[in-house]
Amino acid sequence: MLALAALPLGVRVTVLEPDEHAPARLCARHLHAPYTDPAALNELAACDAVTLEFENVPVEALAALQDRVPVRPGGALLARSKHRAHEKRALQGAGATTAPFEAIEADTDLPGALARVGGRGILKTSELGYDGKGQARVNSDAELRAAWENLGRVPCVLEGLVSFEREVSLAVARTPAGQVAFGPLVENVHRDGILRSSVFPAQVPDGTEARARELARAVADAWALEGLITLEFFQLPGGDLIVNEVAPRVHNSGHLTQDGGGVSQFEAQVRAVLNLPLSDWRPLHPTAMVNVVGVDGPDGSPLTPDWAAIDALDGTRVHLYHKAHRHGRKVGHVNLVAPDPGTLRARLASLEPLIP
Ligand code: AMP
Repeated sequence: MLALAALPLGVRVTVLEPDEHAPARLCARHLHAPYTDPAALNELAACDAVTLEFENVPVEALAALQDRVPVRPGGALLARSKHRAHEKRALQGAGATTAPFEAIEADTDLPGALARVGGRGILKTSELGYDGKGQARVNSDAELRAAWENLGRVPCVLEGLVSFEREVSLAVARTPAGQVAFGPLVENVHRDGILRSSVFPAQVPDGTEARARELARAVADAWALEGLITLEFFQLPGGDLIVNEVAPRVHNSGHLTQDGGGVSQFEAQVRAVLNLPLSDWRPLHPTAMVNVVGVDGPDGSPLTPDWAAIDALDGTRVHLYHKAHRHGRKVGHVNLVAPDPGTLRARLASLEPLIP
């Protein structure tokens, strides 16, 4: 989607991706090699700039490029956002509030940890977790110990369970020249730890967007951002925002910007990375997104969305990723546009049952 957004700006994209079926191979030059392959990294070093749309790339790959080509965001920011405990400490350092947490890296870290985060928590692997993978809810010390063993005794963080009112997200971009711009505030609903739907505009108390921007700017400044990051927030009943995590890239919740009539998050990232003029990007119309996630039916065969009915609904745009079906894997999304927020909610209610 980044490569698709780059083309109309006159920019061609080379993608390094070890999977031979990399979807981007269909619209970009594909280097089919490991992330740390020296020859492939030489090819990237010959580009005008390097960015990423996936955080599970080795920091060493970026470090090898850093002195040869602008890498935005750079390895230091990536290293922070790849590791939940480091990220939370760095967020607190930037003045943001996080969920209470305890690093769990040895047996000796277990006693008392759950009580210290409030008695109910979520154990998450510090690295390589996404879409609810590498996570377990725990309500007792025995469950905590069992969950840690289940996750393979790898470094984890235990987070206190936050009783949030809603989840929202917001992206911020900063060009190397120091120009800062923001994406829209979007409201998100998760199912089984996976983003199910996003809606713009978010229905939030007054002042929420201004506060989200303030926090995003503080993180962008403290982390010396070049490029684009997305902050995920929990909003508490009183309106306060807690930062859940930071993605060092465009984000699933921003996909709705593709069809809202304004600049998309993908174009925003390309602009930020290439130091092109950039202003706030937000949909011109109320817009929503529903993810298409692989779901196996009771007999093990994939359940498919009702594509004909989806296409027949007013305001829908289908986006498919050319990825093979796998249970729990995001394989596409449907964006939805409407002239006003009420119509958007009504159309969303019609769309939801069509997507398993
Ligand atoms: P994450 O992978 O950290 O983004 O978690 C995925 C989803 O799980 C979040 O978007 C929330 O819906 C839920 N979740 C994660 N951490 C917490 C928490 N500390 N308290 C309550 N819900 C959480």
